[in-house]
Amino acid sequence: MRWDNLRLADPGRADPAAPLFARGAVTRTFDTPGFRGMTFYEIQARSIVNRVPAASRVPFEYTINPYRGCGHRCVYCFARKTHEYLDLDAGADFDSKIVVKVNAAELARKELAAPRWRGQHVAMGTNVDCYQRAEGRYRLMRGILAALRDAANPFSVLTKGTLILRDLDLLTEAADRAEVGANLSVGFVDADVWRSVEPGTPAPHRRLETCATLNDNGIACGVLMAPILPYLTDSPAQLDRTVREIAQAGATHITPIVLHLRPGAREWWLAWLSREHPRLVPRYLELYGRGAYAPKAYQERVTAQVRALAEHHGVGRAPAADPPLRPGRGSPARARRASGRIRG
Ligand code: SF4
Repeated sequence: MRWDNLRLADPGRADPAAPLFARGAVTRTFDTPGFRGMTFYEIQARSIVNRVPAASRVPFEYTINPYRGCGHRCVYCFARKTHEYLDLDAGADFDSKIVVKVNAAELARKELAAPRWRGQHVAMGTNVDCYQRAEGRYRLMRGILAALRDAANPFSVLTKGTLILRDLDLLTEAADRAEVGANLSVGFVDADVWRSVEPGTPAPHRRLETCATLNDNGIACGVLMAPILPYLTDSPAQLDRTVREIAQAGATHITPIVLHLRPGAREWWLAWLSREHPRLVPRYLELYGRGAYAPKAYQERVTAQVRALAEHHGVGRAPAADPPLRPGRGSPARARRASGRIRG
């Protein structure tokens, strides 16, 4: 999606000196600790339910993304490149210049009710995190979830944000009407690596607590164990600890993914690596010298290790606690969630 489906929120506040997109946005800053140094560009999107290009190798066809850029600031973030479409850079701008589609909820309600819409699954959190810090202020997800609930439309959420629990009421209401899944993204639990690599995110143990709470409340939640970072979080002991804690959180399933470095993320990651772990630079150049992905043999070895550990620690075997069904809440989706078979 580019700027051609976005338009001016308030032409009277446009700044002629701003970059191309910002001339069509209301610009805000907030002088509070969590938002210092950040700029928010409030825009009116023209559409919000986005069809994924057929060439994409992703297991979903439609997405909703109310934000562009992400204050979680993960160094490796694969979405960095998309900020360049906005005349912004994929590094610091991606972390601190956040585009907010302030009419996202209104559009979602309209598009989900359109005669041409067939109620397909909608994936959220697939480009940038829909429960990043900005969501605490803009609260766009509440309106989007309410629209999905009212349309009885199936959906899933992928996030690192514990803020998702704010919307537990809407998630459970939606899950009574359609299939709802969630995944928390927790690639590792090492606190030092977390502070350095994912500085704007909630701590991994808090994300795992969030996963547990979602499952306790009947929202099937797994863990996307991503990214696994070569030479930083891939030792047998680190993998074992991470998978053990994921199992203890009651995750319904685990999906391991090794770091990939597409353009945009690649430059930002290698610059960080040169500062923080210069001795690893040659090893990374060897692993990622031919492209965005680590060699297949490496990926298969790590994935097999995680799968064996998941089996050993019983990921998915601990049945998610299911609160007693209240009258009128015994939907098939809810019954399947109790068996842990739906994946986010
Ligand atoms: S939370 Fe997700 S979208 Fe946000 S910076 Fe991290 S990887 Fe990127």
